[in-house]
Amino acid sequence: MSDCLFCKIAAGEIPSNKVYEDELCYAFYDIDPQAPTHFLVIPREHIPSVAGIGPDNAALAGHLLEVISRVAKELGLDSYRVVSNIGEQAGQSVPHLHFHVLSGRDMTWPPG
Ligand code: 5GP
Ligand code: ZN
Repeated sequence: MSDCLFCKIAAGEIPSNKVYEDELCYAFYDIDPQAPTHFLVIPREHIPSVAGIGPDNAALAGHLLEVISRVAKELGLDSYRVVSNIGEQAGQSVPHLHFHVLSGRDMTWPPG
């Protein structure tokens, strides 16, 4: 999607601090980190949120989770939280599917 911030970041049109990339996805550090380690994993394809995952792109969604697991291991994270906000009330501010990966501090439950 031409006017989407995360499509532009995945395409390298807007600079970011890369954690990982492959042909299907891109991972980069959050510009406003909420934990000592905070990165985002996004598909290169524009999908608005988890609500846009269906039978046709379920394999891609699984790949994003596999990448999270692999990158977290590579970064030496042994405890971390994966969050995806869906819709404004849940706190989604960028309408392109992304998984937050947060680590390095105590987390509270339930989330606010
Ligand atoms: P959401 O609020 O949609 O769950 O998460 C969007 C995240 O994207 C936020 O944590 C925000 O800090 C991050 N973000 C917004 N704009 C940029 C940007 O230009 N670069 C990077 N690296 N992160 C961004
Ligand atoms: Zn997009």
